[in-house]
Formats: sequence, C-alpha cells, structure tokens
Amino acid sequence: MLTIRHLSKTYPDGTRALRDIDLDIPRGMFGLLGPNGAGKSTLMRTIATLQPPDRGSIQLDELDLLRQPQLTRRILGYLPQEFGVYPRMSATAMLDHLAVLKGVTSRGERRELVDHLLHQVNLWDVRHRKLGGFSGGMRQRLGIAQALIGQPRLIIADEPTAGLDPEERHRFLNLLADISERIVVILSTHIVQDVTDLCPQMAIIGQGQVLFSGRPKEAIEQLQGKVWRRQVPKEQLDAYRARLTILSTRLIAGQPLLHVLADQAPDDRFEAVQPDLEDVYFGRLWAHRPDPADRG
Ligand code: ADP
Repeated sequence: MLTIRHLSKTYPDGTRALRDIDLDIPRGMFGLLGPNGAGKSTLMRTIATLQPPDRGSIQLDELDLLRQPQLTRRILGYLPQEFGVYPRMSATAMLDHLAVLKGVTSRGERRELVDHLLHQVNLWDVRHRKLGGFSGGMRQRLGIAQALIGQPRLIIADEPTAGLDPEERHRFLNLLADISERIVVILSTHIVQDVTDLCPQMAIIGQGQVLFSGRPKEAIEQLQGKVWRRQVPKEQLDAYRARLTILSTRLIAGQPLLHVLADQAPDDRFEAVQPDLEDVYFGRLWAHRPDPADRG
C-alpha cells in the first residue's frame, strides 16, 4: 500500500500544484484522473522522488520514499509521457544498456533479463529493428520493459497513452494491468476510458486537490437516477447552460446531446440515463469548479 499524507507543492511563481493531498493506493492498477494542469505530473514526479514537495509524506509499506530516495529509486519503475529512445539502437541493445545503468552487471543475467522482458512486452519479433522505426505504441511498450528492470514494487506511468491509436492503447493498458497483479501501478491520465476499462481503484484530482478517491463502480452508483439527457437545438445551449448543471455536451448529427445532473428530470423531454464514469468525472470537476471570484 502506498500512503500519501498532506502532500503540498507550490512552485516559485506561486502556482499551488498540490494542496494537501491524502491518498491510499493499494496494489493493482490505480487510475489518477484529472484535466490538464490538475497536478498529476507534479504528483507523479514527487512520488518518483524527482522533485521534492514543500511538505507531506509518502510511504510504501515500511519505506519512507521522501527520506530514502536512493532506496526508492531501486524499487521504482518510471514511465514518462514519452519514452525517449536512441533511434539507431535496437530494442535489445537499448534494454541491455539500461540494465547496465540499473546495476545488472553480469552479462549472462542481463541477457536472460532482456530476453524475458522482450517476450513480456511482445517486442521479441522486432528486437533487432532500429528504434527509430518503432510506432508510438511499440516505444511505450519498450518503456514498460525498461520500467520493469530490477523487479520494481511501484510503477508510475505518467499519461502514457497520449498519442497512441486505440489498438495500441488497448494493448499497452492490458500489459500494464497484467503487471499490476503483484505491485502498485499508478496510471495518470486525462482519458476517462483508460480508467473505466482497467482500474479497480482511482482518484480524481483537480486544481491540486483530491476530488474523489475510491472505486469507480461506487462513484457511478452514487449518481444513479441523477443523470438525464436530451438533445437540444444548438442555439438554446446557452440558455440550458445558465439554468442546469450540464455534465457534458456531445454533438450527435450536428445537434448537442446534453447530460445533466439533477435530482429530477429538468423537464419532461429529458430521459434518465445510466450514469458512467465520465458523468462522475465531470460531476466532480463541476462541483469543485473554481469560484469566479477567484479567477481574477
Ligand atoms: P498535469 O500533469 O495534471 O497537467 P502539472 O502537475 O503538470 O499538471 O501542473 C500543475 C500546475 O502546476 C499547472 O498549473 C502547471 O502550469 C504548474 N506547473 C507545473 N510545473 C511547473 C513548474 N516547473 N513551474 C511552475 N509551474 C508549474
């Protein structure tokens, strides 16, 4: 279990990126969902001990991550948004090189490890190809392989699915889910579907605060009977916006389809819908939207 308490960070320019974050993250895949600027990367980098917070603690079982950064780095696999590669190297050579850097000095051991990782992330058949020719999805899978060197107990993936096509994204996430059976895997994303598909536990963050933490299923259940939909003429959208809590608008054949949060149908042309995680997400963001008085 990863336990985060009272984590705060204000950048020198006054941006309050993390405001007193408390989170309990169990083993398995944990989705950290939030819009751009919510503080996800700051939180990921802080957990990875790449930057210090102003205050707070992070504990993985008995290990105090912030006080023992050297030990932490040994049990941590970090996958950044875009895993940079040396374009002229092969996958085998790159993993071998990174294994050396991570302290696997025995050549035989390294060879065994690299072969195993290439199979695990399904890049065995392309192991001799130059990385410059790899697709985004292949590069991200190589990123997982590198994060797995050293048998980490904690894997942090910061928006790893940005830029992947649906098939690559699916493949990548399934691979991450397989790994997460035994260890803590934190997946930060602004894509609701990434979390819906695979994360038994999640948190929503906005403006540096935790807006929800728990099981997606439970959050969805709490919205039962409170989400309504209706297609409205485009020109009436602003009038609806002014009087209703609109969770989302989607254009269907050029006409907006509204999802509205309300205890009762706003009028008899609205119909009840089965809520989903997107409704939860936009509902939480709406409830914690910044006060217009704060916006300056
Ligand atoms: P996310 O990953 O959710 O998009 P970030 O953690 O990158 O969020 O950013 C949170 C807030 O902190 C944003 O307002 C961002 O502009 C700001 N921020 C991020 N890094 C820095 C930095 N190095 N210096 C100043 N502000 C930063």
